[in-house]
This record gives sequence, C-alpha cells and structure tokens, in this order.
Amino acid sequence: MWQDNADVRSQAVEIARLAATTRAYAAEWGLDAESITPETWEAVPLLSKERLISAATDDPFGGRLTVQPADLAWVFAAPGPIYMPYTADDMRRVTTAYARALGSCGFGPADIVDQTLLYNWVIAATMVDQALRTLGCAIVPGGPGATDQHAEVIARVGVTGVVAMPSFLEHLLKTLGDRPHSLRKAVIMGELSDAGAKQRISDTYGVTVREFYGVGDVGAVAYECERGEGMHLRSDLLIEFVNPETGEASSPTKGSPCEIVVTDFARQAMPIVRLRSGDLVDEIIYDDCGCGNSAPRISRIVGRANDITKVRGMFIVPSLITRTLGTMGIDSEHCVVVDRQQGRDEIEVLISGAPTVDIELVSTALERAMRIRTAVRFVESLPPGEGVLRDLRRFEHH
Ligand SMILES: [Zn+2]
Repeated sequence: MWQDNADVRSQAVEIARLAATTRAYAAEWGLDAESITPETWEAVPLLSKERLISAATDDPFGGRLTVQPADLAWVFAAPGPIYMPYTADDMRRVTTAYARALGSCGFGPADIVDQTLLYNWVIAATMVDQALRTLGCAIVPGGPGATDQHAEVIARVGVTGVVAMPSFLEHLLKTLGDRPHSLRKAVIMGELSDAGAKQRISDTYGVTVREFYGVGDVGAVAYECERGEGMHLRSDLLIEFVNPETGEASSPTKGSPCEIVVTDFARQAMPIVRLRSGDLVDEIIYDDCGCGNSAPRISRIVGRANDITKVRGMFIVPSLITRTLGTMGIDSEHCVVVDRQQGRDEIEVLISGAPTVDIELVSTALERAMRIRTAVRFVESLPPGEGVLRDLRRFEHH
C-alpha cells in the first residue's frame, strides 16, 4: 500500500471488519473480523468485478448489504449487472470526494457546466451533478448525445465548462466550430484516454482539459490539479498496486505495469474492499507537484489487466457476450475485438461459422445486454489470439 498513513490503514481495517459480517465476504474470505488488522491486511483476498457480478444472481446485492433495504437512499444499476446501493450518508461522502476532485480540476462557483455523462441507471452523472452543486457551479444537465443541441446551449448560455468522455468532447468541440463561445475548461473521464488528446484539444480549441480517473464501484480515485501533470491519488482511499498476474503487492514501473486495487471508506451500505480495478499503471510520480497537494500521482492508465474492459465508458464482460449468444442458439467459437480507430474505440463481435441467426438480431441482443452498440460478423475462422476478449488497446504506451 502506498499510503504511509495510519488513519487510512485503520479506516480500511474498519470497513473490512464491517464487510466481514456480510454473508458474501464471510464466505469468500473465511476470516474472523477481529483477525483483520493493518499487519494482516494482505491476507484479505482481492475482489474482482467478475465476482461482484457472479455473486449477484439470487440477491441483487450479492449478499454484501450491511443495512436494511429501507435505509438505502440510492440504488444504481451498472452493466454486468451490478447493483450499487448507497445510504444518504454514503452518497454524501462520495459527493464530497467528487467535489474535491472537480474543484482540483478547476471548477468553481463562477462556472456554468454542461454535464454530458449519462444520467440514467449508472452513478456517474448523478455524482458529478451533486458534486458540481456542492462546488456552487450552475449545471446544464445535458446528458449524452444531441451534440447540436449541446453546441447551441453552450454558445447561447455562456457555458464555461464541460464534463464529458474524451471522444464526446472532441466531437462536441468540432460541432461548436467557429461559433463564439466561452467554453474554457473540460474534465474528461470514463474511458481510456488517448495520450495526445489533451494537448491536441488545448492546441486546437483553446480548452484546458483536466483528467479524472474513477473506478465504477468507488468513484473518484485520482484526479489532476491546475498543473495538469498527472493525477493525484486520493488520500482518503486505500489505494494499492499489485502484480496483475499474482495479485501480490508491487510497484509499477515502465515495462511492468501494476493493477490498481481500491478499498473505499465511503460506501458502508455495501462495502467494497480490495477491489481489482482492472486498470494498469506503469508509473507513480512522487516528486512535489507544486500545487499544494502532496499526494503521489499516476500519469495515465496504460491498459486493462483482467478480462473485462471498458469501451466508451461501458464495461465489456466476455461471459455476458457468451451467455447472450447462447440464448440465441449460437455456441460456436467467438471473440470480441476492441480497437481504437482515429481516436475512437471500436468494438466488434466475431463468430466463427456460417450465419445461423440474423446479424441485426444478434447485434440488438448484445446491445441490450451490454448497453453498447457493437458490430457483429460471422467469419470463417477467428483471428489468432486467446480468450474471448481481444483488447488491442492494451499495454499501449505514450
Ligand atoms: Zn498537483
């Protein structure tokens, strides 16, 4: 663990002990709550997203709820599906952390912010929206899509900031074109950003871009500051780095990236302990940034460790694809290829053999399951490679 901070460690132990009282964690860990201490921390098993998903078959919360359902204030439904319950206190803590992150990225009371993340089902937009309110910003709750309308509103209302996924931001700025506007800052999050994007956007459009790294089940994990030279790790989370093959604590270096593992203190309704983010970094920057925040920084996420990846902000779960194809009577070999073409992430499902089902029906079923549109193709044989997921963006370096 990177934090040499007794308070963070004791909070981690506290939340793990709470987790140990739930049916799921008790069964998975086989640990007495009392046996969990800062010294025995690494005996607590890592939690994968796959496990979160697979455990939630009979009970939507997978046997991890520590409160009565009546005590919940919010339940979000993320693809997987993963249901994410929050009490009002949980939400307040999460919102406070998000506000700090967005404030560090440069948003404040004078800003009018167009919020373009999805408001339905998932947590991102709700959390960003509440955090912007906490900061005193005026919010335009635009949501995704309808680019022309966004451009119109930005130009007419005097929007100064935007929160967006990187690909949407560029699309939006292109659409704004030569129209006069006051847009000066943007915060991007939600997908693997392309290394040159920030500079390109700043050079071409005069908009300062700050990056924000979050993990779906935890929220903000690291974020940039005014200097924009790496994302500061949050000091009120337990953030660990592990070897993605062995799960052992390790230090990321160029050529041997480590996976980020997070323990959240904010979510007490359903504790998230030692969650494998699947995201890899190959550098931690300890030099003083000069902005006043002394927390170490990470530069960018260099790839995905496990067999779940993110495309345009949505998780791609290979087992879900296999299951969906199965329900349509397709049991031949298949794979999903994720690649980046001209800065945009593309996803295609390849199925070996002659078409047995209408491609459009397959595509619609997959879209329903994954909430992302994917191309589908029947091919004579699959491209070389292992496993269902072929993420060609992996381990790319600057
Ligand atoms: Zn800084």
